[in-house]
Amino acid sequence: MQLDLGPDPRTGILRRMQAALIAEFGRVVRPPEKRRDPVWVLVHGVIGAQTKTAASNASTDALLEEYGSWEAAAQAPVSDLEERLQRQTFPTVAARRLKDCLNAIIAARGSADLRHLSNLETAEAMAWMEQLPGVARKNSAGVMNASTFNRRAMVIDGHHRRIMQRMGIVPPKADTAKTYDALMPIVPEEWSAADMDEHHLLLKKLGQTYCRPRKPMCDGCPVRQDCKLGSAAP
Ligand code: SF4
Repeated sequence: MQLDLGPDPRTGILRRMQAALIAEFGRVVRPPEKRRDPVWVLVHGVIGAQTKTAASNASTDALLEEYGSWEAAAQAPVSDLEERLQRQTFPTVAARRLKDCLNAIIAARGSADLRHLSNLETAEAMAWMEQLPGVARKNSAGVMNASTFNRRAMVIDGHHRRIMQRMGIVPPKADTAKTYDALMPIVPEEWSAADMDEHHLLLKKLGQTYCRPRKPMCDGCPVRQDCKLGSAAP
């Protein structure tokens, strides 16, 4: 006989966190017109290592404007791409990854097009993307959640991962993929894709304010009551 252990208490913590963070920071809702084409979101992630979102937005828009299509960008020499990626923190790596990734999509699909993913389950679509050069869990979840696909997938960046570890919701050394695997089953079932997007954006704000990488400011932190590290702090 299997014991019914009831709902995971971490689900309740996520609900309380969402309410506390909205009370602290206000609503952070991405308007529907800001949902971009899946390939745009994928490129944004592939070139975006250690780079601020606004810079990666500008670089991705500029690439498409200058080349006219992702197929044309895929054919450009790496040195040309690198020149156009100077806003990025690592332009050389970004240029190489971008070229390899776009060419891998074109080789597999005939063009730089991800529409076939709409016919797949979210996990399957993410696995397809993660076999492309330069695409890891954060990017694949981003394409599913923040593009026009608008699917239930939690995007996890460094802020999100650090906060979940400190709060004791995921294991202390969980990497992005392990954090994702631990979180997805406990996300409140009533949360839509937009709620998950908002949760991620709110955690980013928390990570930039109270829960910074060094010296978290637990005093006054809106989620301290549910935080393993914060509630143990003097
Ligand atoms: S209580 Fe402290 S450790 Fe916990 S989330 Fe807030 S700032 Fe981070």
